[in-house]
Amino acid sequence: MTEKFNAICIRSVSWRESDKLISLFTLEKGKVDCVVRGAMSAKSKWRFAVEPFCFAEYVLTEKLGKLSLTEANQIDGFYGIRYDIDRLYCASAVIEFVRQNVYENMKAYDLFLLTVNALKSIEEGAYPHLALVKYLIEAMDAIGYGARFSSCGRCGKPIGNRAFFDFDAATPLCENCAHGTASEMRPETLGLLSEVANAPQELFKSPDKNDYPSVFSDEKSTYFALKFLAYYMEIKSGLTFKSLSDVLGGFNVVQ
Ligand SMILES: [Zn+2]
Repeated sequence: MTEKFNAICIRSVSWRESDKLISLFTLEKGKVDCVVRGAMSAKSKWRFAVEPFCFAEYVLTEKLGKLSLTEANQIDGFYGIRYDIDRLYCASAVIEFVRQNVYENMKAYDLFLLTVNALKSIEEGAYPHLALVKYLIEAMDAIGYGARFSSCGRCGKPIGNRAFFDFDAATPLCENCAHGTASEMRPETLGLLSEVANAPQELFKSPDKNDYPSVFSDEKSTYFALKFLAYYMEIKSGLTFKSLSDVLGGFNVVQ
C-alpha cells in the first residue's frame, strides 16, 4: 500500500549501515515513522528528505508492516535556518514542541500550518525569537492550553504598573485582583507577550524591523517572555523544553 503525505521531518536517526529512520509530522495523520533505505549513501536521491525541518511531499510504501520512503518532492527545506545559530535554536525548539505534542493518527491541521509558518518566520523574519514566542502562544492554544495576555482576567481593566499572572486560570491579573497564588511578572514582559499574541502571523515573516511595533526590539522582555513560556508549558503540559535553554543561552541579558 502506498500513501502520500505532506510532512515535515522532525527526527532523523541512523539505522543499520546506510539507512535512516525518520519521524514525520504529517498534515494527514499526525506522527508517522518510516525507513529511508540507502539515505546515507553518497548517491542517494533522498538526502534532503532526511534533514530535520525538510517540508516535502513524502510517498511511503508499506512492506512487511514497515513504511519506507519511495519518493519525496521538496516543498521547502528552510535552509536559511542553518546559517544562523539563533535561528537554528529557535527552529529546533519548534520541532521539539512538535515531537512532544504530536502523536500517531492525530488530527493536527492547525498545528501543522502554525509549524510551517513559524519555520518560515524563523528563517526569514527580523525577529526569530519573537516568531518562536508567537508560535508557542498559538501552538499551546492549538493543543488546548491557550492563555490570554491582555487586560486583567478578573476585572477586565488594563494591567497597570504591577502585573501578575494566574497560571491556573491562564490569565494576567491586575494589582487589585491578584491574590496569593498569582505570580508577579515584569509588566514590560506581559506587554510584549500581549503585542505578539495580537500581531498577525504574517507579520513575523517580514525581514524589515520597521514593519514591527517598537516594543519588539526590547531584548530583555523577549528573553523573559521565552522564560515565561517555558515555565508556562512546564506547568500546563508537564514537559520540560531542553532546546529552549539553548535559545535562552544565546541572550546577553542582565537578570
Ligand atoms: Zn483586575
